[in-house]
Amino acid sequence: MPERIYNFSPGPGTLPYSVLQEAAVDIVNFKDKGIGLIELSHRSKEFMAVAEETENLIRELMGIPANYKVLFLQGGASSQFFMVPMNLLKADQKATYLNTGVWAKKAIKEAKLFGQVEVAYSSEDITFKRVPRDDEYTVAPDSQYLYFVTNNTIYGTQFPTMPNKEAMLIADMSSDILSRPVDVSKFGLIFAGAQKNMGPAGVTVVIIREDLLDRVDDKVPTMLKYKTHAEKDSMFNTPPCFSIYCVGRVMNWLKQTGGVAAIEKLNREKAALLYEVIDSTEFYRGHAEKESRSLMNVAFNLPTPELEAQFIREATAVGLDGLKGHRSVGGCRASIYNAFPREGVEKLVTFMADFAKKNG
Ligand code: PMP
Repeated sequence: MPERIYNFSPGPGTLPYSVLQEAAVDIVNFKDKGIGLIELSHRSKEFMAVAEETENLIRELMGIPANYKVLFLQGGASSQFFMVPMNLLKADQKATYLNTGVWAKKAIKEAKLFGQVEVAYSSEDITFKRVPRDDEYTVAPDSQYLYFVTNNTIYGTQFPTMPNKEAMLIADMSSDILSRPVDVSKFGLIFAGAQKNMGPAGVTVVIIREDLLDRVDDKVPTMLKYKTHAEKDSMFNTPPCFSIYCVGRVMNWLKQTGGVAAIEKLNREKAALLYEVIDSTEFYRGHAEKESRSLMNVAFNLPTPELEAQFIREATAVGLDGLKGHRSVGGCRASIYNAFPREGVEKLVTFMADFAKKNG
């Protein structure tokens, strides 16, 4: 393996090195067939097998019930902000949203184009440093769905458990899908951009309960109907072949690693190491409230912006890359998705303790 830096980027993020190696070989000569992976027709039997295997692995790892479709779409997770209400909400209908960060807020803005939106909870006035408990908001009985973001990438907050409400759940799981077990049957729809826990950018995975496919209005353009893609197994048009292939390899890696329950254990250990060093000094301040802390993105501040800049500079110089916080909140953020190695977290923790000692 060439010397690799530790990549704490929030996404696209670290992928398993074994997957990069597999892809490097297959791009040039796919399974020794004398043709490169990204030259294959999406309708070739070779690629159809890749897509099928990818879907089956996602189904197996997440325990997706048979009455759900798994779709591979384009346009980023951001396109789901409008596709969800465009397919599932009529002008005279209501949907409930939880405003726990920029990605939720963008989804709220789009939903308002299609129907009535009730924002049942917002932590915007406290820089999104927490997510709500179930007893902090209500969902109107006539609400079509409850929309929330399971993990708020920018602020390092995460729902410790899924909302337990009398409502169909719809979740943006872009930054924590497959990081812990989830009961898919509680959801009408789950979506995630692949570029954090699943693979490279370019494909958005949508998991949708079949009975919802028919809710869509005829006037919705063909490409923007979930039904179109569901009926053609995501082959209505050319899908993002390379990204789908990579997702398949990452799923295979995850399965070999022991699956979702095993990776959750690892994720908890990695995050605990970081929160421990944050809590053990006055020097670092975690952004999220303790009950809302994310296992995927650890956002923290140092005493001054100058020290934060110095911290990022010095960390980068020793191969700890991508620690700058999102431009909207500043500070630092360590994104430690599924494929991020524990040794990288340990190296950061040692660096943080040393830095605090020298500069505190
Ligand atoms: N939702 C969440 C939770 C995200 O973190 C992001 C991107 N970081 C998005 C949505 C937007 O994803 P995309 O860039 O694929 O549109």
